[in-house]
Amino acid sequence: MDRVGVVIVGSGQGGAQVAASLRDEGYLEPILLVGEEQELPYQRPPLSKGYLTGKTPTQELALRSEGFYSSRAISLLIGQRGLRIDRAANQLVLESGRTVGYEHLVLATGARPRSLVVPGAELENVMSLRTYTDALAIHDRLQTARNVVVVGAGFIGLEVAVVANAMGRDVHVIEFADRALKRAVSREVGGFLVEALARRGAKFSFSTGISSLIGHNGKVAAILTSAGTTIAADLVVVGVGVQPNAELASEAGLKVDEGIVVDAQLRTSDPLISAIGDCARFPANFCSNLVRLESVQNAVDQARFVAMRLTKKIAADVKYDKLPWFWSDQGEYRLQIAGVCSSDDDVVIRGDISKGKFSVLRFRGESLTAVESINSAADHMAARKLLAEGASVSRSLAADASQKLSTIVHTS
Ligand code: FAD
Repeated sequence: MDRVGVVIVGSGQGGAQVAASLRDEGYLEPILLVGEEQELPYQRPPLSKGYLTGKTPTQELALRSEGFYSSRAISLLIGQRGLRIDRAANQLVLESGRTVGYEHLVLATGARPRSLVVPGAELENVMSLRTYTDALAIHDRLQTARNVVVVGAGFIGLEVAVVANAMGRDVHVIEFADRALKRAVSREVGGFLVEALARRGAKFSFSTGISSLIGHNGKVAAILTSAGTTIAADLVVVGVGVQPNAELASEAGLKVDEGIVVDAQLRTSDPLISAIGDCARFPANFCSNLVRLESVQNAVDQARFVAMRLTKKIAADVKYDKLPWFWSDQGEYRLQIAGVCSSDDDVVIRGDISKGKFSVLRFRGESLTAVESINSAADHMAARKLLAEGASVSRSLAADASQKLSTIVHTS
C-alpha cells in the first residue's frame, strides 16, 4: 500500500486547485490527485460556450499542462475511480484494487446532471452536458441537427440554446418554471436574456414539462410536452440541474444531506476528510441554511481555503466566507453575478435595459445582497468589492448610472 500526505478524489476545477494551492502554500508531503475522467484536469465553462461554437480549441480546455503537475511533484492518476473510503485504516480504495493511505483526504467529486425521468429519455441524441465527452458529442450532433430542443432554461440550457440558435438551428427551450433562471437571477435579467434570444428566432415554452420523448429508429424525433404539444427534435439537450456526487462519502458513513455536509472550515463529519466545490454543502454567512454552490469561484476559493488550513495558515476559528460570484456568456451578453439574493429581494435597475447594458441591484431592507450585471464589467467589479466589504449603498444613487458604483458607498 502507498502512503500519501493528501489524497484528492476528483481532478476537476476544485481538486486540481487544492493540489496546486497546497504546493503554493509550501506543503512538502506527497500529493495524489485521482480523477475518473481520462483528460488532464480541465475547465468546464467553455464546454457550453466557446468549445461548442468551435472558438475554444480542445487544447485550451486544460487548466494546467502535464508538466505543471510533474514539476510540483503532484501525482496525477487519471482514468481511475475512487471506489471506497476505509476510514478505520485511513485509506482510499481505487477501482483497480490499489489502496492508498492518506493523512488527509479531500473530496472534490463535483456533481452529475439530473436525467429526465420520462418515457424515451434513453433515446439516442438525448444528451446532457457536464464533461468534455458530453460536449464533444453535442458539438458533433449540432453540426447536422435541425431541430434542437433544450429542456431547462438554466445557465447551461440557455448557453446551449444561444449557440444552437447562432448556428442557424431551430431552437425551442422548454422550462418547467414560469420563467428562465428563476433560482438564480431577477425577473428583469432572466426576461432580458429570453427576449434577446427570442428576437433571434428561438422559441420558449414556460410552465411546461416533458411528458415523453418520441423516437424513430432508436433516435429522438420529437418531444411531447405536458401541454400536449408535439415538437420536432433531432437533438434534445437536457439541462435540468445536477445532483452532487456524494456516494463515496455516504457509503463511508460521512454526513450527507443534498451534498456532503461540511463545517465552516470545510471539514466533513470526519476531521481527516474535507469536501469542496459542487459536492459540498457548507454553512454560509449569507444564508441560514447550509448551501451548495456550483461555480468556478466556489470550487477555487474552497480549494485554496482547505490548502491554507492543511498548511496551518489559518487559525482554527476562521470560517470560509468568500463572496460568491459567477458569470455566464449568453452570446453577445456577459452576465455577471456577485452575492446571493433571495427571490423576494427588492430590485433597483441601473442603466438602460433596452441598450443591453445594465445592472440589477438586489436589496433586502437597506442591505445590498447581490448585483446582476449585463455587459457592465465595471459595475460587477465594484459590486464584488461593496458586497465583500459589507458597504451600505444608497438605493437612489445606485440607480443613477452616471455615478460610479464605487463612489456612492458609505462603509457601515
Ligand atoms: P468538477 O469540476 O465537476 O470536478 C469533479 C471531478 O470529480 C469530475 O472530473 C468527476 O468525474 C470526478 N469524480 C467524481 N467522483 C469521482 C470518484 N469517485 N473518483 C474519481 N473521480 C471522481 N461555473 C461558472 O462559475 N461560470 C460558468 O460560466 C460555468 N459554466 C459551466 C458550464 C458547464 C457546461 C458546466 C458543466 C459547468 C459550468 N460551471 C460554470 C460550473 C463549474 O464548472 C463547476 O462549478 C466546477 O467545475 C466545480 O468544480 P468541482 O471541482 O467541484 O467539480
